[in-house]
Amino acid sequence: MSLRSGHFFCIVVLACAINLPMPCNEVQATELKNIIFMIGDGMGPEHVRAAGMYTGGPMSFESMPYQGLATTYSADNAITDSAASATAMATGQKVNNAVISQNLPGDGSALPTLLEHYKSQGKRTGLVTTAYMTHATPAAFAAHEPHRNNNSQIASDYLNDSRPNVLLGGGGNGISISSAQSAGYTTVTSRSQLLALNTSSTSRVSGQFGSTHMPYELDGLGSLPHLSEMATTALDILDNDPDGFFLMVEGAKIDLAAHNNWIDRNVRETIEFSNTVQAVMDWAAGREDTLIIVTADHETGGMSIQSDNGVGNYPTVSWSTTGHTAADVPVYAWGNHANRITTSMDNTDYYDLLTDLGMTGDLDGDGFVGINDLNIIIGNWNTDGSSDPRSDPIGDAFVGLDDVNQVLANWNNGTPPGLAELVPEPASTSILLSICLPTLMHRSRAAG
Ligand SMILES: [Zn+2]
Repeated sequence: MSLRSGHFFCIVVLACAINLPMPCNEVQATELKNIIFMIGDGMGPEHVRAAGMYTGGPMSFESMPYQGLATTYSADNAITDSAASATAMATGQKVNNAVISQNLPGDGSALPTLLEHYKSQGKRTGLVTTAYMTHATPAAFAAHEPHRNNNSQIASDYLNDSRPNVLLGGGGNGISISSAQSAGYTTVTSRSQLLALNTSSTSRVSGQFGSTHMPYELDGLGSLPHLSEMATTALDILDNDPDGFFLMVEGAKIDLAAHNNWIDRNVRETIEFSNTVQAVMDWAAGREDTLIIVTADHETGGMSIQSDNGVGNYPTVSWSTTGHTAADVPVYAWGNHANRITTSMDNTDYYDLLTDLGMTGDLDGDGFVGINDLNIIIGNWNTDGSSDPRSDPIGDAFVGLDDVNQVLANWNNGTPPGLAELVPEPASTSILLSICLPTLMHRSRAAG
């Protein structure tokens, strides 16, 4: 296996470089089309553990292959609020607490968001939350306001400017059925209406469920939909776009239960968030063009587990506050480009990671995709990549031809830092030969 793939790798690289009639286009890496960003508001590591004690098993997202922790501080406070943290995730910029994707401190200019970035690429976009629709977390992805409480302006930013295809969440607080309808949205107000939508013909929907935040899972949703139902309906609408989509999904009431130090409601909200992630993972199963990131904006309550009371019982916990804390939050990632999630993140890292995708093959991070990047793969050839995670850009825990193809698909992107990585056509063969010949000789000896 090692000998054959070593040979094949060199043959494909050489053939592509010297324009031999090899099927280079058949080995291109799969393009990232769909990005699903999922936020458990207030969900720290202890919240995840507490829910797992109740269910007797891990949360769905704990099975994701790439995991880490992220810092969350804002520009003006070690303890962030949802507005500043969601702005950091959506725009890559630290702002003051309460600011919605504007450059504050600074000149107050609008900061471009991930949702807007992907909209400009022709993708459909969506926001799904159990908070009211104009609440801070969704707002930071699709509005620009100096304060999170500017609800009517946030609604106007949604309906008139950023215009996400899907707006599903609690109602009132600046957004109304008539304003959404006059902006060209199909509107729904109940679970039955949501589930009856013709998702193949609906391209713009606004669901306002109730008059403020949606109810807690523990208390029952009545005629209103679960978060998982809103998310799967959103996927059914968004996935009609051949260009793909960007979707943000927020489990907002994890935070609100923790503000009240209610372990029962908190656990049940985390479980429904996990169910929602599972539904999204089920939709994405078998796809190679989709990335799912699951994280939180901050920890709420300073929760600390005191005892595991067994399956079906809420654990005994202590709380240090009814506010937020500065604790790091967990990050989980699955799918295309998930390997870009590292163990140590800041909440501003996502924007660059997710908008800089033409540089996917730049494994050494020098701003150019070239020979040095291939050498990282060769140096870890045929391993699981654990000694240098950069060597496995595909993220399948095997350093092989797929990883080479990821680099080739982005070959020559960026600005060459110097002649060492500059590969003009006539020189390419000799440089590649200098890599391939020792590799092949080494492989041959090893096989003997
Ligand atoms: Zn909060």
